Amino acid sequence: MREKTEMIPIPEIEKKNPEEIKLFQEQLLQKQLIYLKENSPFYSKLFQTNNIDIEEIKSIEGLVKIPITTKDDLQEFNDDFLCVKRNQIADYVTTSGTSGDPVWIALSDNDLDRLAYNEELSYQCANLSDESIIQLTTTIDRRFMAGLAYFLGARKAGIGIVRVGSGVPELQWDTIRKVKPNALICVPSFLLKMIDYAEENGIDYKNSSIKKVICIGEPLRNQDFTENTLSKRITERWNVQLFSTYASTEMATAFTECEFGVGGHLHPELIIAEFLDENDNPVKNGEAGELTITTVGVEAMPLLRYKTGDILNFHTEKCECGRTTLRLSPLVGRKQQMIKYKGTSLYPPSLMDLLNDFEEIVHHVIEVSSNEINEDEIQVKIYSRSESEELHDKIKDRFRSKVRVSPKIIFVPEQEILKIKFPENSRKSITFVDNRKSIG
Ligand SMILES: [Zn+2]
Repeated sequence: MREKTEMIPIPEIEKKNPEEIKLFQEQLLQKQLIYLKENSPFYSKLFQTNNIDIEEIKSIEGLVKIPITTKDDLQEFNDDFLCVKRNQIADYVTTSGTSGDPVWIALSDNDLDRLAYNEELSYQCANLSDESIIQLTTTIDRRFMAGLAYFLGARKAGIGIVRVGSGVPELQWDTIRKVKPNALICVPSFLLKMIDYAEENGIDYKNSSIKKVICIGEPLRNQDFTENTLSKRITERWNVQLFSTYASTEMATAFTECEFGVGGHLHPELIIAEFLDENDNPVKNGEAGELTITTVGVEAMPLLRYKTGDILNFHTEKCECGRTTLRLSPLVGRKQQMIKYKGTSLYPPSLMDLLNDFEEIVHHVIEVSSNEINEDEIQVKIYSRSESEELHDKIKDRFRSKVRVSPKIIFVPEQEILKIKFPENSRKSITFVDNRKSIG
């Protein structure tokens, strides 16, 4: 048993120098390759068809000899990724695929332990202790992984947890009053709804027990790690410490930032990360690339050089928290949403952040289409109550100074933009519309 109030210790490997971490990961990689060759129908075939001798791959650089795995592969050959017998599967989850069908990810009992350890490390990044109590405001069922992972992680870390699930601010506040948790697991935009509800109902949220929030699903920072608009909107009203995370079902791993808020920390025991350019070559240090992951220690459905479709920057300098591991920047954008505009590569999040900064803008939608010569065109539709030539020029200027190019900006009536933003049968609001002929 741990002493009470003792923090979960940082694993030694996370504080070693980069060369030692690399060697450590390369040993794990060699074991992983042997495991895949022996147990994975998909990867043993891949090695065979491409004449790959896994014995020759001894370093992370050597990985370039192995073809990458895409979301399409995972969708099309879903069952071939399974490395265990059916009766060894402990849990089934799904994630959205490239076509309409979901992609299934199976987890063995050991994978659930690995998932728990992964979130134990997330809690440690957020400086929680076994004195902590967490309120889970996301769903734990519906074939999702995240809620389950946070629950299992809390058990492993000796942290108390109360599973309220998603939505229902009233139930959230009632639970906070009764249980007095000190942290939430939450989608950040839902925090705004909780604050609104508290204000409307006279709940003294500023003096509640909640001091920290582990945020999932939406980014909280700009590329220079300053707070983005969403984050500011929360912290200006409620003095809570927000922790940004990056995670996905396929990785079965989370990158959680520490108290210094300079990117999600990689945990070397769990995952190997590469950052690749459009031709699947590693990008140079300091450049953004597509995060390509190799899971370590996953038993049921391990992935090797899986391209996530997400473009991110990475940082390698030692963090003030003492960890020396790689840190991930906030998401630059999804690869398939990349816009090539007047010689510049742009991603919707940078455009949206810029628009979110204007208090005058009530709604915005970014539409991308192809022109006659198959180049990308950007049109930004805006609804504002203070529509004017002046505001139009102000927005144009901001685009020029922040992203160097300026798309077409048009003001539209509120009704028109709401129709695009909230189409029937869609639960999420839409702010990016891709009408291009061919994507990617
Ligand atoms: Zn740190």
